[in-house]
Amino acid sequence: MSRFWSPIVEKLTPYVAGEQPKMTNLVKLNTNENPYPPSPKAIAAIQQSSQQHLQLYPDPNSDRLSQAIADYYQVDNDCVFIGNGSDEVLAHTFQALLNHQQPILFPDISYSFYPTYCSLYQIDYQKVALDTDFAIDPDDYKVANGGIIFPNPNAPTGRLLALEAVQKILDSNPDSVVVVDEAYIDFGGDSAVSLVADYDNVVVIQTLSKSRALAGLRVGFAIAQPHLIDALERVKNSFNSYPLDKLAEAAATAAIEDREYFEQSCQKIITDRETLTKELTTLGFDIIPSTANFVFVSHKTMKAEEIAQKLRNESIIVRYFNQPRIDNMLRITIGTTEQCRLLVTQLKKIL
Ligand code: PMP
Repeated sequence: MSRFWSPIVEKLTPYVAGEQPKMTNLVKLNTNENPYPPSPKAIAAIQQSSQQHLQLYPDPNSDRLSQAIADYYQVDNDCVFIGNGSDEVLAHTFQALLNHQQPILFPDISYSFYPTYCSLYQIDYQKVALDTDFAIDPDDYKVANGGIIFPNPNAPTGRLLALEAVQKILDSNPDSVVVVDEAYIDFGGDSAVSLVADYDNVVVIQTLSKSRALAGLRVGFAIAQPHLIDALERVKNSFNSYPLDKLAEAAATAAIEDREYFEQSCQKIITDRETLTKELTTLGFDIIPSTANFVFVSHKTMKAEEIAQKLRNESIIVRYFNQPRIDNMLRITIGTTEQCRLLVTQLKKIL
């Protein structure tokens, strides 16, 4: 590490993104992408938009997309904030908590980018243990804090926190911002966007990377009351005033507007998740009930690391976490129906 940079940077433990292998013959079930392509209308929008004035800067406010999201969720468009992937929206949210007097809270097993943002932006944090069955208990969030963040459904567990429980956290923390990271909400959960009108302290963050199959474009958004959105806009405009490029905005707008395609592809994934859950149970796996596009599992007899390696030898990649408490667990993304079948066939040979 160079002595010229800040000691903060020297101490950073950067987030390590899941493997993105170059080989195309692999069945890739390790990073929770959508196994289906995005809406054909999104592809058409990119083609059309690529012929239009790429020499000019994009709309700094992504107004068309912002309006499409506002229409989808029936909120005013000043309740919507757009960023390059929800990772960037999250980064701006953490930046808005800079120098907070109190630590921010998040579950001890959750998205591993949160501690990275905290160390980059020098924000104190406190991890809150999950229950023994990997559930978030709202009563554990009644301690003094400078903000609360959790994924819902949680990642990598896939467990959903019911909307009433989210509300309980909001009610017991009227003086803190509560950020609900809904990257996987469209696979069966109820969004906390319905709480935005009544709560001045909730920020809901979503992504187009999962349910709308646009991980390659990097589009995410937040929905909250305008006074919270205003803070995110200030941070954004102090960082990069052009959140989305023109192609991403055009495709994302078309993807949000194509509700039929979105609903069909989410439904396929939900159906395959339920089928896969039953089959994995028969094969001796313990499975945390999932409301996401992945399942978090352990096997009764074979070690997770060994299963991951054996699947890899058969060109199937799943995510193995070498971390305390979850070191014997695998996170498996729900692939296409055919990929799920192939996974089960290979597991039957391995186990
Ligand atoms: N939140 C959670 C819980 C996630 O798992 C992910 C995906 N890694 C993200 C946010 C970020 O998604 P993206 O930046 O692609 O929108």
